[in-house]
Amino acid sequence: MKKTALITGVGGQDGAYLSEFLLSKNYRVIGAEKNSLSTKRWRLKKLGIEKKIIFEKMRIESDADINKVFNKYKIHEVYNLAAQSFVNTSFSTPIKTSNITGLSVIKILEVIKNKDPKIKFYQASSSEMFGNSLSESQSEKTNFDPQSPYAISKLFGHYITRNYRNSYNLFAVSGILFNHESPLRGNEFVTKKIIKGLIKIINNEIKFIELGNIYSKRDWGYAKEYVVQMWKMMQLKKPEDFVIATGKTYSIKDFINESAKYLNLDVKWTGKGNNTKLLNNKNNNVIIKINKKLFRPSEVNYTKGNINKAKKIIKWKPKISFKMLIKIMIDDELKNYDHK
Ligand code: GDP
Repeated sequence: MKKTALITGVGGQDGAYLSEFLLSKNYRVIGAEKNSLSTKRWRLKKLGIEKKIIFEKMRIESDADINKVFNKYKIHEVYNLAAQSFVNTSFSTPIKTSNITGLSVIKILEVIKNKDPKIKFYQASSSEMFGNSLSESQSEKTNFDPQSPYAISKLFGHYITRNYRNSYNLFAVSGILFNHESPLRGNEFVTKKIIKGLIKIINNEIKFIELGNIYSKRDWGYAKEYVVQMWKMMQLKKPEDFVIATGKTYSIKDFINESAKYLNLDVKWTGKGNNTKLLNNKNNNVIIKINKKLFRPSEVNYTKGNINKAKKIIKWKPKISFKMLIKIMIDDELKNYDHK
């Protein structure tokens, strides 16, 4: 029998790649959207799968909407990827973020518990939950120390998923995914902002870009391989949580240097602190500046995942390196640029 998966946040980066993967596994994919604006489906269109998905309007903060969808279909697996997922925005909209990213998780779990406790549930947890935990690398056992309303909301989702698994014997798992990027990443995230910005500078569309803290470090992987791990977790006999990461960490500055190198930009850093600048050696133009306003009220300085458990149990092995990820993102951006 064909399995049915419900994906919340189907129009997001992970929703799009996961839909593509599940369709290749012959799933029927129900895509939950907060509204049916076709502009929100650009990623699904880009992957050429928009017509293969059954869309349902389901605001995850609405019990009525959730019930309606669960009454309409026989669902086997739920992937809860919808969230207000941008850390900086969570500081300006903390209550909305808590409702959407946090409270909605228990609303879906309640429906599963009451309606059909055999439905499997995947919760998209986040490395942001570790915050400034002092460990050298973060595993499933590391203490959490969230630094933003986003991370605190995700932590609620994480613990309530675990609680429903332990209390009601649901197959409910959390994947603690570290930053994962791709050509489908939203423009507001730093990787996309840097790549888009440098390409616009090369093409004389803009003179420079402004960034916040370029010294924080992230464990960055490739989203397309991360979504497969979500599915693998859902196929285990026993529901368990997993950290998914690469186990390597780089600063924003490293990301800039590597991107500039791949784009053949000859650059040099000058200045100190908030006066740090990136110069284009060809014409001495400043192409990256620091803007204090882009610093976060509270920052996560460093993330690096410990992936031993995922390696052992779901055979996770990241294939795309930091360099390869940058190449994939830049090549795609240049291709779009040619089409303009
Ligand atoms: P996050 O790890 O989920 O917050 O992913 P982001 O891509 O939004 O941010 C990664 C890191 O880049 C954080 O430490 C930010 O403070 C830092 N950063 C520095 N400048 C910028 C910027 O202009 N935009 C964003 N989004 N992040 C920036």
